[in-house]
Amino acid sequence: MGPGCLAAAGRLMLHIGSLINGEERRGDGRTSFEVRNPFNGELVGMVDLATRNDVEEAIQAAHRVFVETMKQLPAHRRSAILRKAADLLEERSEEFAALLTQEAGKPIRDSRGEVARAVQVLRFASEQAKADDGELLKMDSAIGGENRFGLVKRFPVGVVAAITPFNFPLNLVLHKVAPALAVGCTVVLKPAEKTPLSAMKLARLLEEAGLCKGALNVVMGTGQDVGEHLVTHPLVKMVTFTGSGAVGYKIKEMAGNKRVTLELGANSPNIVFADANLHAAVEGLVKGAFAFAGQTCISVQRIYVQREIYECFLEQFVTRVKALQVGDPSLETTDVGPMITEEAAIRAESWINEAVAQGAVVAAGGRREGTLLQPTVLTHTTPDMKVVCEEVFAPIVTIAPFDSEEEAVALANDSRYGLQAGVFTSDIHRAFRLYEQLEMGGVWINEVSTYRQDNYPYGGVKLSGVGREGVKAAMEEMTEPKFLGIRLA
Ligand code: NAD
Repeated sequence: MGPGCLAAAGRLMLHIGSLINGEERRGDGRTSFEVRNPFNGELVGMVDLATRNDVEEAIQAAHRVFVETMKQLPAHRRSAILRKAADLLEERSEEFAALLTQEAGKPIRDSRGEVARAVQVLRFASEQAKADDGELLKMDSAIGGENRFGLVKRFPVGVVAAITPFNFPLNLVLHKVAPALAVGCTVVLKPAEKTPLSAMKLARLLEEAGLCKGALNVVMGTGQDVGEHLVTHPLVKMVTFTGSGAVGYKIKEMAGNKRVTLELGANSPNIVFADANLHAAVEGLVKGAFAFAGQTCISVQRIYVQREIYECFLEQFVTRVKALQVGDPSLETTDVGPMITEEAAIRAESWINEAVAQGAVVAAGGRREGTLLQPTVLTHTTPDMKVVCEEVFAPIVTIAPFDSEEEAVALANDSRYGLQAGVFTSDIHRAFRLYEQLEMGGVWINEVSTYRQDNYPYGGVKLSGVGREGVKAAMEEMTEPKFLGIRLA
């Protein structure tokens, strides 16, 4: 048994600390916290918190390695490291998927999907590291610009602080780490307290792929202690955050003149028109509402259905929801697993009860047992109910009828958030109209809001965030354009 592994009831349990300049810091009187499987409460890992000194050293190491190594490392080397990491991750997919299921309670099929996406993110970053950057300018488009030559090249910003949430503990870490390394930045990563194990395993894998020590440092701890230290440190040049709006906007305030990208929450609308393929819409929306127990930022939360097909849609939808397998996330057959904590499940249940007290009707689910909340369908909701206007982040969906296209757009846009929307229609003209009119970072036609591919610009408007991810877009956020002009003699 290697260091960092403890035997617990015949299983391997991880004991980890922080990774600073390639060295793991644990023990020596550091306070520990437990990582428990959200389904059965089993202890999965012990994590030693980073001290204030650890965080300082992590930032200093990232700064030193940026100046001395990463910013000079040629693109073909950065690309090769990321490609090798993708190959290693692919080989170890099953190990990583099992760990995600244990620490996050994610159903094993979804965990495998997350690992497969993470492999792709590494490959996109590897390819993009070698792609052209910058541009050549036509200087003679300006009067008097003759005999001048201009170009723009992009340069890495420096040390990036990456702060990540619990719901995609591997892929959302990679959406920050892979583009940062691709452009030659260094990183101090603070993973979510509830799911830090896969992040550490990934950092080790990147070292094995050839990443130099100190290019990726991982610091364990709470947002207040470790996160705020990172956000306010002068050597950190950019903060890339994914998580809740409350924390995100606080970070933006604290970050001063640092570059900040925020990937935050939403209450995503999905609109089904009478001319849509009903079967495809029902199948997609059920999956998009309840995957990972609705704990996805673009989860289907509000469904608006054209009145002439409303009853028929509702009947088919509820039948499919009642057939979902709820329970142990390690089983191949499980569709909906636990929520991340019992506290989160109790909060979601209280929102259902509050909506019902205000007149909503439970068409399916509504019951909770520990961390398991049954997939819940609510009808007869009103726009001011929390389950409609707030981010529910739970296996709860609301379904309401609409009469006209204008009404559907108004209902969908009636939100403080704007991340992604789904529209189901067979009318191409309507599809383009809705693309223009929906106030979102992204619109899918004949696909659910929950669908995301890792290579397109992804992010929100309104309270859903600032800036874009998706490998190429994140690489732009992590670089500064610098102009060079030459006057020809
Ligand atoms: P959270 O905001 O509670 O925590 C996210 C991270 O921020 C954690 O690592 C946490 O430790 C850290 N943090 C907390 N307080 C901090 C502080 N004061 N300073 C610095 N860091 C701090 O979010 P969560 O519960 O882990 O994740 C769920 C949220 O994430 C949902 O709102 C969801 O919509 C959002 N999310 C958004 C996207 C997206 O791409 N838009 C993707 C996934 C999740």
